[in-house]
Amino acid sequence: MIALSLAEIAEVVGGQTHDIPDPSVQVTGPVVRDSRDVEPGSLFVAFAGERVDGHDFAQAVVEAGAVAVLGRRPVGVPAIVVDDVQAALGALARHVVRRLGATLVGLTGSAGKTSTKDLIAQVLRRKAPTVFTPGSLNNEIGLPLTALSATDETRFLVLEMGARGIGHIRYLTELTPPKIGLVLNVGSAHIGEFGGREQIAQAKGELVEALPSAQDGGAAILNADDPYVRAMASRTKAKVLFFGESDEADVRAENVRLTDSGQPSFRLHTPSGASDVTMRLYGEHHVSNALAAAAVAHELGMSADEIALALSEAGSLSRWRMEVTERPDGVTIVNDAYNANPESMRAALRALVAIGKGRRTWAVLGKMAELGDEALAEHDAVGRLAVRLNVSKLVAVGGREAAWLQLGAYNEGSWGEESVHVSDAQAAVDLLRSELRPGDVVLVKASRSVGLEKVAQALLETG
Ligand code: ATP
Ligand code: MG
Repeated sequence: MIALSLAEIAEVVGGQTHDIPDPSVQVTGPVVRDSRDVEPGSLFVAFAGERVDGHDFAQAVVEAGAVAVLGRRPVGVPAIVVDDVQAALGALARHVVRRLGATLVGLTGSAGKTSTKDLIAQVLRRKAPTVFTPGSLNNEIGLPLTALSATDETRFLVLEMGARGIGHIRYLTELTPPKIGLVLNVGSAHIGEFGGREQIAQAKGELVEALPSAQDGGAAILNADDPYVRAMASRTKAKVLFFGESDEADVRAENVRLTDSGQPSFRLHTPSGASDVTMRLYGEHHVSNALAAAAVAHELGMSADEIALALSEAGSLSRWRMEVTERPDGVTIVNDAYNANPESMRAALRALVAIGKGRRTWAVLGKMAELGDEALAEHDAVGRLAVRLNVSKLVAVGGREAAWLQLGAYNEGSWGEESVHVSDAQAAVDLLRSELRPGDVVLVKASRSVGLEKVAQALLETG
């Protein structure tokens, strides 16, 4: 982070200083909440969680080089004490981003935030120093911590913003006000918590409402292919740039196809030119993510050729998202176990079929969480799609939702023998270990809470 004295930090967060002999000492290292991440010069933010209380690590973090602790109570080492640690962290982030010379890019959507954020970062960092959300730390704690990791050199700060309800994105935009706001899609992720798709659109659109006007450089980047996102154009004062496959989009893809190995390839059109892209990432859903990244990069002054090259070379920076690994015996594992929702299930099944062209394909799927009233219909539909795409075998893993997946497949065709329902990850591993043959391709995917990456890992270890 940029260097700030403890006195300044205490003032910004409205905190009391305790056990600080010299308030002019500066925090120069990263601001962290995990004691293992402390470096010399760090500020350690102590949260009191259910199992672990950060305050208990005060002594240890100072020994590891932390300058001070930001927490709720004095801890016997240099500390800034506040009533609300989260609010203090937010206030500090807001203060710091105002002083940065960086352009802030915020992005949200139901699916693909992390994938797209990683693409944007890999494109922008070719032009200038870029700081971006690590992994998926997109909430009211991860976002300020990311913003605080920017330095005076940082030119672009790319922030993933997650929402579980109305007002969440607005809050995040108050901490770190973006100049460029990107909305990817309005799907059904967390629909149970939100109440419906209209509410999700309402919540995601808070991002474009927060942007500066077009005259002040604000730009809203919206998915022309998603009607809920397209409609957000009327909710912003910023300039609007559309991306998508539709002809009217400012940034669009032509001749979209999957290469023989299942990677998307297309001709990228931006207002400044056209250039060919062949991605290293798998799955046609990445076309939309790539167009979104291209639109951001175009807005920040990059040419179509520069963008196309960067997109063609970009890899995945985050774990368990369409990680394709071939075992020595020729079995290919597609680990997409990070998370799942109906949109990404469909995209992943299509990618599986493309990767597995002519080979035996297995879809090892678990439940999609948080679907509320739509849960039965959505699991049924995914099961049916697996059959329609001619996936060779469906292994549904887990409880009730897995049963719905399997029943969907069964009802779609006379598929009785090719779909199985097993109770847990271990049962899936046992089944696959005995059945897999060289050349098979296995997709592993479910919502985060199912933890199906265990299946992918077990299969890779036995390879
Ligand atoms: P989270 O809300 O958990 O942070 P996210 O929005 O960051 O999720 P990713 O982690 O990028 O999303 O991807 C989640 C899942 O959605 C992955 O399985 C990925 O393959 C899939 N996915 C990525 N992009 C898209 C897209 N544009 N449309 C549908 N599914 C997608
Ligand atoms: Mg994410």
